[in-house]
Amino acid sequence: MNSLDDPTVLLEALESVSGLEVEVDASLAGHSTFRIGGPAQFLVRVHEDTALEALLSVTDRLGVPFELLGLGSNVLFPDEGLPGVVARLVGRFVDFEFQGDRVTAGGGVTLAKLARSASEKGLEGLEALSGIPSTVGGAVRMNAGSYGVEIKDVLVEAIVLERDGRRRRYGVEDLQPSYRSTVLRGSQGVVARATFQLREGNAEKAAAKIEELNRRRWAALPSGSPNVGSIFRNPEGDYAGRLIEACNLKGAARGDAQISPKHANVIVNNGGARASEVMDLMLVARRAVSDRFGVELVPEVELMGSLRERWRKAVDLEVEGRG
Ligand SMILES: Cc1cc2nc3c(=O)[nH]c(=O)nc-3n(C[C@H](O)[C@H](O)[C@H](O)COP(=O)(O)OP(=O)(O)OC[C@H]3O[C@@H](n4cnc5c(N)ncnc54)[C@H](O)[C@@H]3O)c2cc1C
Repeated sequence: MNSLDDPTVLLEALESVSGLEVEVDASLAGHSTFRIGGPAQFLVRVHEDTALEALLSVTDRLGVPFELLGLGSNVLFPDEGLPGVVARLVGRFVDFEFQGDRVTAGGGVTLAKLARSASEKGLEGLEALSGIPSTVGGAVRMNAGSYGVEIKDVLVEAIVLERDGRRRRYGVEDLQPSYRSTVLRGSQGVVARATFQLREGNAEKAAAKIEELNRRRWAALPSGSPNVGSIFRNPEGDYAGRLIEACNLKGAARGDAQISPKHANVIVNNGGARASEVMDLMLVARRAVSDRFGVELVPEVELMGSLRERWRKAVDLEVEGRG
């Protein structure tokens, strides 16, 4: 019998760690900007480094699935939910500290808050990233970017706790950042904190830039219906949205999931959309773009739990069918 067959073993282990708050069967829909997903067996709020180390050690020792969650703005959770532990960084992980023109921030700090605080100090560099609904950890992991700036451009280093509990310092080059990716995307390392290099500037100018870029962002994106921003990465030299639109898929729907009539690389939840319906639409778009343009679209959204395997199998089947 493993700890998932008898959840009390895991619950007791989690409750014995100080600095963890444990919630059983917590709805994940409320923790995703998509508003989709079943329950997490255990949702754990982690308050400090020692608690995070202990949590990783418990889940490793018991062989329990472990997922980390930031603001939930780039994740699709399965309808049946997730077994094991889903962790959120709170407490010490939402602190940040300025030292001269550098700032070190916990993995749970939001980019909006960090950019606003920097601008108030007359420090520039984060304005273009401020509108991405992201934590520092989520953004570093996928090298988030907007308006020509990627987080790697301001990142000095990240402190990462590996799944086996080892603490590792990654200089920006160690992360091998590329378009919407770093080496962390293939690992389960947790970004505990990150240091950014900013530059002395002007507080009013920085605040005005944040406001202007946020206005432009909200004019371009569908408002009102829950979504996770871009669903696919842009293929080199092109835009996923342009390719999907050219396949006449704007507005296509499966249940309450719909390819946004405003932006073809965004899927919106019109109320009660299910993860399976979002996946169906993603596969429809992928197949249409592949057939018409020979371009294989790759998800930008993080497919969580069983959805990863479901996506891989569906794509393999499709490729086999063509061959
Ligand atoms: C309206 C809207 C607009 C968007 N615009 C942009 C944009 O302009 N540019 C852009 O790049 N993205 C954009 N996104 C996508 C999304 O905001 C980014 O991918 C963001 O970085 C996700 O951060 P998060 O904290 O919400 O991570 P989550 O969505 O919670 O998690 C995403 C992945 O990161 C992992 N993760 C989270 N925290 C950590 C951590 N501390 N350490 C290690 N891994 C972690 C999770 O396990 C998961 O695999 C947009 C999304 C929305 C909804």
